[in-house]
Amino acid sequence: MYDLLLKNAWVVDPLNSVNGVADVAIQEGKIAKVQRDIQEEAKEVIDFTGKTLQPGIIDSHVHLGTMWGSPFGPRMLAMNGVTTCLDMAGPLDDILDNVPEYGVGINMAILQFASPPFTFKNSTPSQQEMIDLIDKSLADGALGVKLLGGHYPLDPEVSALLIRTALERRAYVAWHAGTTKNGSNINGMIEAVKMADGYPMHLAHINAYCRGAIHEAMEETKIAIDLLKANPNIFCESYVSPKNGTRLTCNPDGTIQSKVTGNCLRAFGFTEDADGVRKALLARKAFAVYDAGGYSDLMTGEEALKLWEAAKTNVGGSFNINPPLPRIALAQAKRDDGAFVVDAISTDGGCIPRNVILSQGLSLVKLDILSLSEFAQKTSLNPARMLRLENKGHLSVGADADITVYDLATQTPVASFVDGKKILFNGELVSKGATVICTEHGKDAIEARGMKAIVVDPGKQIERITAL
Ligand SMILES: [Zn+2]
Repeated sequence: MYDLLLKNAWVVDPLNSVNGVADVAIQEGKIAKVQRDIQEEAKEVIDFTGKTLQPGIIDSHVHLGTMWGSPFGPRMLAMNGVTTCLDMAGPLDDILDNVPEYGVGINMAILQFASPPFTFKNSTPSQQEMIDLIDKSLADGALGVKLLGGHYPLDPEVSALLIRTALERRAYVAWHAGTTKNGSNINGMIEAVKMADGYPMHLAHINAYCRGAIHEAMEETKIAIDLLKANPNIFCESYVSPKNGTRLTCNPDGTIQSKVTGNCLRAFGFTEDADGVRKALLARKAFAVYDAGGYSDLMTGEEALKLWEAAKTNVGGSFNINPPLPRIALAQAKRDDGAFVVDAISTDGGCIPRNVILSQGLSLVKLDILSLSEFAQKTSLNPARMLRLENKGHLSVGADADITVYDLATQTPVASFVDGKKILFNGELVSKGATVICTEHGKDAIEARGMKAIVVDPGKQIERITAL
């Protein structure tokens, strides 16, 4: 007798070439069988006729730290069908401290930010400061570190040393391209790929470097695609929302703290200072993130200006800065061997309100940019490989029973499961806590917090999926 039997969904499992109506049986948190018309009994049977079922959605770029929006990131992800996520900035302690109250049962990997003015004093930390930060982060349960270079840059050579230092310690390394020399744009991306020097690195949100800051946006997209094809050591994601995520914080002298916010203000014709933010909010071009009670949302106009002033400028923000065609081209592009150029579809969401993998990502399927199998590959199988999660991203017998069920017609989630347990069901979040994906150094710290740990080795090579 199975624990759970999910019946009659359209099942998509690219690794096992499943793409049709089938039943999925689950036993002790693992996939037990995927087959048409499973006859054996189960303790619970759920009928998903007319719905689509795939390995649980893994969002490989999110934010869970309260400072980026609110503590509601896990809830906002799970409400949108995500079962596993990679946090791309921490702060690690804040996220872990919030799990007892705000955890909803999903898996999370966390990268601690390695960036001034937060975890480094300035843009030229010594190698010892890097080692101290990396070792402490891993011991506390982080999977690795993130360079927020586009927002808060380090010197180019310091960035390169930090990547090497982190990789030597088998930490996961991701970089939002940008240094004190080049910004968050196509030149910053070219520089970041060069600084990675052939080592495996996660380059964040490729679409962010194809916004037309240096050349025409599609020309930048072509440069980005060619660069990624020539440098297969770079693993990456791109998101589908027009909205970006940044902070609207200004220094006491009126200058902007985040370089990305400066870029956005300039792109919309505003000055790159506090006065520019004020005008952009009033012109409804800049948006402020606010706590809407259980989730975060965006506001603009006079209301947002009041919020920004009351918070002494210290609020998360967003601009509709991503042109559409680069997002589509980056989602579709393939290498000569059939592997995707951009490995995964992400959102850069979480507590930033744009968790749109289903609501916008499935439009790519309807436009024939991606097949349904390719969609599942880019939203589950490939990001599982990036996170070195061998038991996730597919529905092989014995794999973790992480599953997302959605309605393709309405592009909305129907249900989700982690280890065979319900997370999202009947429109409600029905689980608690979190499982943390960490290295062997952080296992004890995570378990001491009463959470389950999945230990992976980010130093292991990634096998990229070619044509299936
Ligand atoms: Zn981000």
